[in-house]
Amino acid sequence: MEIYKLSVKDLVSKLKNKELSCTDIVRSFLERINNVEDRLKAFNLVLEKKALEDAKVIDNKIAKNEDLPDLAGIPIAIKDNICTEGILTTCSSKILSNFVPVYNATVYDKILQNNMILIGKTNMDEFAMGSSNENSAFSSVSNPWDLERVPGGSSGGSAVAVASFESPISLGSDTGGSIRLPASFCGLVGMKPTYGLVSRYGLIAFASSLDQIGPFSRNVYDNALLLNVIAGYDKKDSTSVNVQLPDYTTFLKDDIKGMKIAVPKEMFEDGLNNEVKESVENSLKKLEDMGANIEEISLPLVKYSLAAYYIIATAEASSNLARYDGVKYGYRTKDNVNNLEELYLKTRSEGFGEEVKRRIMLGTYVLSAGYYDAYYKKALQFRTLLINELKSIFSKYDVIVSPTVANTAFKKGEKSDPISMYLTDIMTVIVNLAGIPAISIPCGFDNNNLPIGIQFMANPLGEGTLYKIAYNLEKSLNLNKELPI
Ligand code: GLN
Repeated sequence: MEIYKLSVKDLVSKLKNKELSCTDIVRSFLERINNVEDRLKAFNLVLEKKALEDAKVIDNKIAKNEDLPDLAGIPIAIKDNICTEGILTTCSSKILSNFVPVYNATVYDKILQNNMILIGKTNMDEFAMGSSNENSAFSSVSNPWDLERVPGGSSGGSAVAVASFESPISLGSDTGGSIRLPASFCGLVGMKPTYGLVSRYGLIAFASSLDQIGPFSRNVYDNALLLNVIAGYDKKDSTSVNVQLPDYTTFLKDDIKGMKIAVPKEMFEDGLNNEVKESVENSLKKLEDMGANIEEISLPLVKYSLAAYYIIATAEASSNLARYDGVKYGYRTKDNVNNLEELYLKTRSEGFGEEVKRRIMLGTYVLSAGYYDAYYKKALQFRTLLINELKSIFSKYDVIVSPTVANTAFKKGEKSDPISMYLTDIMTVIVNLAGIPAISIPCGFDNNNLPIGIQFMANPLGEGTLYKIAYNLEKSLNLNKELPI
């Protein structure tokens, strides 16, 4: 088998017993990138030279029998909104197209401490705003299962890099579904951790109370390995959770007998594609066969969640994005200007894309004096109701299950109207609003040979439970379709 097709677990063991060198591994992925990347556009930047140099360093350490961390020498791709010192970090935006951070995000520091190899920075929707990766200022990304279709967004580049074997694992960020949605569309495992589990320090902010970094992988085990690396308290992030964390791979042995699974009927109603529905129901049957108890519940608040999400997310974005003024860093207009206000106006008009401007305007509107109570405050009240409702559900059930997305990957250009794009997120946003963890794993394919995803949600810090159920389902479904590319 080609090296680039190996799982992280296998790469680690082959490195350890010296069947492969780190240079062999990095070369194999770089070659794969060379072969497929022009059709996919998953990367904003491939760090070919640096990755090979770093691999040599690891090989020297291995030759000297140095004690190395578990994932030492494993290549990783990182979403381009995560700051990497000395390495371009653009958020796929013109306004940050020349931005080279002078510090590392905490997650990247952890990647470096674990001697992992950064292979490139991945394409995304501009400032992580979008569900299809068509909002990148540089290029849209193609879904490797069908190049005419979107990979999902906003972490589409990170998903495609892993789905198409350009990288064994990657990091994305999830504000309203941006890890789970592309994981679903690309046939991957994507974990959105509990708010505060993974440091946001150095993640370029979209909506700070919703944003969370998380791992993409091709199987559940590899996902748990990467969460082990990136999770943990960080004093540089004031919302970081300070608790003792488990080794997430330890959850991947137990069975799920007696596990209580809630199925909210509102997430299986109108608008849900039939093939998606059947595939998720088939998974529920498998879980039942393995001894889980499945019960239908009602979660009527789901119907308000998108409205609340798009108010809170845009409100926070309008504030977070005020910093891009052409003065401190990033793009500045080349035109002559007469005063500071004109500099701001021209820089921001030229530097931001259409969707980002739409969000800034929406957010400014919902925060303005006349509308704050009617929109923003109401959305916050809704958020509290939702958190309480979920708390009460999790007092009776271990997990909630739903499809990750109501459909499979759609064609590029198909959702030109922003509202229809926003509707894609209907299943995923409650998780971010409530700060809970959720995982999406592949559960089947539709008639067009496109992957379908199933989503499991748990109580805060319930990542272990999610990995346990995901691992058991993955084993029993045993899906293995050859990627067409
Ligand atoms: N699609 C959602 C949005 O556009 C979520 C994006 C995200 O999770 N970063 O806001």
